Amino acid sequence: MKSLQELLTLLHKPQRIVITHHYNPDADALGSSLGLYHYLQQKGHQCQVISPNEVPDFIHWMPAYENVLVFEKETERANAKLHEADIVFCLDFNHASRTKIMEAVLNQFQGIKVMIDHHLYPDDKFQFGLSLPNKSSTCEMIYDFINLADDNHLISLEIAKCLYAGLMTDTGSFKFPATTASCHLMVADLMQKGLLPAEIHSAVFDTYAENRLRFLGYVLAEKMIIMPELHASIIAISKNEMNKYMLQSGDTEGIVNFPLSMKNIIFSTFISERDNEVRMSFRSKGNLDVNEFARNHFEGGGHVNASGGKSIITLDATIEKLKQVLTDNKSNLQSCYNELV
Ligand code: 5GP
Ligand code: MN
Repeated sequence: MKSLQELLTLLHKPQRIVITHHYNPDADALGSSLGLYHYLQQKGHQCQVISPNEVPDFIHWMPAYENVLVFEKETERANAKLHEADIVFCLDFNHASRTKIMEAVLNQFQGIKVMIDHHLYPDDKFQFGLSLPNKSSTCEMIYDFINLADDNHLISLEIAKCLYAGLMTDTGSFKFPATTASCHLMVADLMQKGLLPAEIHSAVFDTYAENRLRFLGYVLAEKMIIMPELHASIIAISKNEMNKYMLQSGDTEGIVNFPLSMKNIIFSTFISERDNEVRMSFRSKGNLDVNEFARNHFEGGGHVNASGGKSIITLDATIEKLKQVLTDNKSNLQSCYNELV
């Protein structure tokens, strides 16, 4: 894979560019895409952001969100854009399969594929790119990319808002270990360009509908299984429960983090029953590696302290399997816990 420095030479002349991200985009996926979009437009390129599926409501405020094409809904138009593109930027994922329904079209793409991402174990099917698992977020990597091009002066308020949103959410509001000095320096720089962080916090976090907060209450009171000797928590939700609370896509985001706020819990899982599979989110504290855990047992991956996976057996069978795997890992869970306290 050639470096982003080498890519800059290609960007000296106007290009037709598609920017895409992983299925079920979060603030880092959409923020990095729209941040890059605003920047490349200013540089005179023709850009189109394509999201594999619908973008959740809590990030619709991002500047130029209305220009995003949703592949699942507007497949023909999206395919036409991809067909005529010279370059595709693949942001916040490291393997085409993470886009689900766009996997085939990305694999067949004849132009130049660029990856900018911070997940472990990148695929090698990209001509240009950068994979830095220690980076807080793809948004920080886009900020670094703009600086690499010596274009810091082109970072507009629109770009600042988009990039800040992904940096803020991927660092858990600046509390995860991936929060480095460079993250805070980036925030200082964005604030000097007019960014008001409180506005973005509010836009992202203070937008719950009533049913979503009641669902959270129900989940924490009734559905949280604690396994104290394993320092683990499991929350599993059926499709019926999701329907009962009329949840929209993205409404369960962040619930997995709550159990970790307990002192003796270092592993948290949120499991939800979907149409064709059971989705799983894993979070951990310290050296407990949930990326390996998801890869080894639940066909997934991600980062050391945040990962996801899936299961195609029933919800109840998945819970049993998870409990068994956790019990088998008891000594590792206990030693990671002991390192923390
Ligand atoms: P979340 O639990 O928020 O869906 O995902 C946590 C992290 O794990 C994110 O960085 C996400 O990209 C990654 N991730 C989630 N699901 C999967 C999966 O099925 N496979 C891989 N490789 N990564 C995943
Ligand atoms: Mn990310």
